[in-house]
Amino acid sequence: MADTQQKRVTVAIDGPAGSGKSTIAKRLADRLGFTYIDTGAMYRAVALWAMRQGVDFGDMHRTEQLALAAEIDLAPGRIALNGEDITEAIRTQEASNGASKISAVPGVRRAMVAKQRELGERTNAVMEGRDIGTVVFPQAQVKIFLDAALAERVRRRLVDLTAKGEQIDGEELAAQMKERDERDSTRADSPLSQAPDAVYLDSTGMAIEEVVENILKVVRARMTNGREYH
Ligand code: C5P
Repeated sequence: MADTQQKRVTVAIDGPAGSGKSTIAKRLADRLGFTYIDTGAMYRAVALWAMRQGVDFGDMHRTEQLALAAEIDLAPGRIALNGEDITEAIRTQEASNGASKISAVPGVRRAMVAKQRELGERTNAVMEGRDIGTVVFPQAQVKIFLDAALAERVRRRLVDLTAKGEQIDGEELAAQMKERDERDSTRADSPLSQAPDAVYLDSTGMAIEEVVENILKVVRARMTNGREYH
């Protein structure tokens, strides 16, 4: 009876861009019957709004106001901002870079973390991002730090962007991803870092299903006390 509050299970998946977090987290959520929560999409949504409004990413006050006012809906396969479907619009390289810039603003992070906690507390969830195991849900039962070699991460992103019709040179993309990693890992507020109790997984050269199976093993091992989590 004492732990009715703490029944929710959170699987936190953090890692750099292109490490396979989204694909893996979605499959994992499917297999477990958990809700998939893409926190990067939330920063992308706020960045998109700022770009459209002509708000500078360095304007701490206005970016925070947008983050607080943003109504972000993460329905499966459809992301909406203030009622508008932005699923495709947030996947451009411009939105990726914008998200990385706006996510360094402490007020924006505060607003997003509050929304993420609210979502995660409602349901069993697989939540992916940069700071889930360290800041958003430091008490998450399962924490994974998913990594891959830069060349492999660039290759994956290039496949994604080309499939969407976006033209970008491989070297330019590599430079942008390196810059984004650097910014995400060195910002003062909640930088990308591995939680001490996270399991490190390098997905370079691994098939998607292999990574999913590996994580499922970790989930099962952490759940061996027989508690119901569906
Ligand atoms: O994961 P994704 O590439 O969609 O994230 C876009 C950007 O949002 C990242 O480069 C990062 O700057 C930011 N982000 C963050 N914290 C999260 C998720 C994403 O700062 N939990």
